[in-house]
Amino acid sequence: MHFQSILNEVYTEVLAMNLDGKVSESIPELSKINPSKFGIHLTTLEGGNFGIGDSNERFSIQSVSKTLTLAMAFSKLGEKVWERVDVEPSGDPFNSLVQLEYEKGIPRNPFINAGAIVIADMIVTLYENPKEDFLDFLRAISGSDTINYNPRVAQSEKDTGFRNRALANFLKSFGNIENDVDEVLDFYFHQCSVEMSCKELAQAFYFFANAGKTKEGNQILTESQTKRLNAIMQTCGFYDESGEFTYKVGLPGKSGIGGGIVALFPKEFIIATWNPRLNEKGNSELGMHALELFTTKTGMSIF
Ligand code: GLU
Repeated sequence: MHFQSILNEVYTEVLAMNLDGKVSESIPELSKINPSKFGIHLTTLEGGNFGIGDSNERFSIQSVSKTLTLAMAFSKLGEKVWERVDVEPSGDPFNSLVQLEYEKGIPRNPFINAGAIVIADMIVTLYENPKEDFLDFLRAISGSDTINYNPRVAQSEKDTGFRNRALANFLKSFGNIENDVDEVLDFYFHQCSVEMSCKELAQAFYFFANAGKTKEGNQILTESQTKRLNAIMQTCGFYDESGEFTYKVGLPGKSGIGGGIVALFPKEFIIATWNPRLNEKGNSELGMHALELFTTKTGMSIF
């Protein structure tokens, strides 16, 4: 398969589309990003690396980080994670409060904000230096030891994260947050502020495509746990557009409001895209189209 020429075609075709997505305004610091940035990177398990556009430029990974904190918590706690978070698609926006009340403080899944905040609480309990340990984990799985938080983005979200603060307090009122709410939110805002490039994300997600093992051979999750996390990405990875992403792209993946998307084909490849313009569901409009074209042209979807 000529992956580089397929990526080149996808890139050109997507840029020619008439799209109207908007850069997220929910975090003031993120709204300053140049909307025309666009990159794609593909890593194959056979060892190929193919990139185009701004694929080496770092951006705010935002909710893509939720997959990685979940992997950290799942690797330590195993199935106990699901005593505090469910694995069902939510069908509601990522920052919705209503479902939590009906479901008595058990978030629908670990990728809506409520679920990710419960996972952040688990990390704060499990790790001695949660922020350092999370960075160490990211650096190890991506092979890039300069990956870091963007303190301005973390602060900007802290200043304006009223909804996340409400969610965390609401969860605490149900007894589903063990630690101090501010400490948990500080970790959550930092994990969202991490900056990585498409290439680094593709490398970091290698273990999800490789039965839980990194390129260097470190077993992060068991094969069964990896299958399970990929299944949650498939059913819950794109907010209330997860069905649409499955229908059009046909790969497990995760998006973030920084405009990044990572998707993978177990045993074959990992692909990451970035363009900050989001559709009304909060997913990168160009990224969704690019991945749809990629799986159509290559015939490589898991379905
Ligand atoms: N930091 C963002 C928030 O909590 C993440 C949202 C996202 O990327 O989906 O609102």
